[in-house]
Amino acid sequence: MLNISGIEEGYVIDHIRAGSCMKIYDALNLDKCEGEVAIIKNAKSGKLGKKDIIKIEGLVPLDLELLGFLDDNITVDIIKNNKIIEKKSLSLPDKITGVAVCRNPRCITSIEQGLKQTFILSDRKRHIYRCMYCEERL
Ligand SMILES: [Zn+2]
Repeated sequence: MLNISGIEEGYVIDHIRAGSCMKIYDALNLDKCEGEVAIIKNAKSGKLGKKDIIKIEGLVPLDLELLGFLDDNITVDIIKNNKIIEKKSLSLPDKITGVAVCRNPRCITSIEQGLKQTFILSDRKRHIYRCMYCEERL
């Protein structure tokens, strides 16, 4: 059984905006994760009021860029031997590939199906991404 208060080896994805843990769960494909996953909704948090937390047993590959793109307030604790060995704070990635689809019907990515959809961060403050090919806003 997964001990909710601590995991021997794995991740604690913390400071998830309350109510959005399932979005994170889906984005990280945690339904396919072999290890144990605990989802804690509406945990009390001094900073946010309420927050969600996801704990993952096992050091599975984790897409930190994608996490940062979804919510850059998230922090990820990496746990080994029951200790936090690293705390990662996330930031908006400069570039994100394969996550979103360009809405411009004339964009080359709409015509050439094989092309990877890539978006470039154009305004960090306002969280605005634009298509690498046509500059359509995400
Ligand atoms: Zn485009």
